[in-house]
Amino acid sequence: MRANPADDTDMQIPTARWQQLLSSAISDPAELIRLLELPVELVESARRAAEQFPLRVPMPFIERMRKGDLQDPLLKQVLPLDAELQPVPGFVTDPLAEMQNNPHDGLIHKYRGRVLLITTSACAINCRYCFRRHFPYQENRLGPDQWQRILDYIAADDSIHEVLFSGGDPLAAPDGRIARMLNELAAIAHLRRVRFHSRLPVVIPQRITDQLIAALTGTRLKPILVLHANHANEIDAVLSEALQPLRQARVPVLNQAVLLKGVNDSVEALKTLSETLFDAGVLPYYLFVLDPVAGSAHFDVSDDQARKLFDQLQRQLPGYLVPKLAREIPGEPSKTLLI
Ligand SMILES: *Cc1c(COP(=O)(O)O)cnc(C)c1O
Ligand code: SF4
Repeated sequence: MRANPADDTDMQIPTARWQQLLSSAISDPAELIRLLELPVELVESARRAAEQFPLRVPMPFIERMRKGDLQDPLLKQVLPLDAELQPVPGFVTDPLAEMQNNPHDGLIHKYRGRVLLITTSACAINCRYCFRRHFPYQENRLGPDQWQRILDYIAADDSIHEVLFSGGDPLAAPDGRIARMLNELAAIAHLRRVRFHSRLPVVIPQRITDQLIAALTGTRLKPILVLHANHANEIDAVLSEALQPLRQARVPVLNQAVLLKGVNDSVEALKTLSETLFDAGVLPYYLFVLDPVAGSAHFDVSDDQARKLFDQLQRQLPGYLVPKLAREIPGEPSKTLLI
């Protein structure tokens, strides 16, 4: 049997610094609460909510949070809360109906010209608002046979020009595996671009390794990186510095954010996010309204309020710093803009 580039061998002995930071991510609510000098009374409810969807947050992200501040916009994205356990009508486990849309395990083909690959089940951080918090990843692991079927599927459809590496977080996969997958994809003549949707470099900036850049730029396929940061405080000097080699390698870097109540639902927060991204060499791409996933209702911002914020952004920022305000509606041929 040939070597399998998609094999889920992510659990190798962690050698790179980023892998160590990934495997030592904080998962005990009591430890997070102690590190941030927050009231111990929070531990019990955080533990209850973490039973449904575990806490997971690496140290470099925690270091960007303010101590003793429950309103910290980074903390709010990761701290499990009792509110998550309250059922709210309309907030469901599979809002995007993705379970009905897999032509093959590990592959989602919904939009023309693009396919989305579930590269790995791992994520560096568990974002409480995530629409994948109930997603059955175990059924979507890429084994050798699945990877071959995916390659065959893409090769057989010459309308496909771009492969999106998603997850989980595709950059949780080791560089060697990414390089091998890209090499095999590059052999498919009608493919032009590969896109990585990843929050990992935001959470662990050390993830941008020389080997990763070599992998991304090592084939004829044009790479694009789409980061996921929701608040300007996520972009510190370390991240900015880590992104520098991508700029030098001429890899376009974009950002998608989710509009979250209590995190970034103000004109000021969104403006500062766009400006700070730009300073780090990143262009805003999408601002998504929340998918109505069970457990995330406390982050919801109404469409009306979202439009008002967007209108103000358009008045106050140059066009290239205004992300597209959008949502994903199951069955639609693209993301749907809110206008
Ligand atoms: C969001 C998404 C894409 C990418 O959409 P763009 O508008 O190109 O960013 C592709 N496929 C699937 C299944 C998606 O959910
Ligand atoms: S990193 Fe992305 S996929 Fe992973 S939990 Fe956060 S939002 Fe969800």
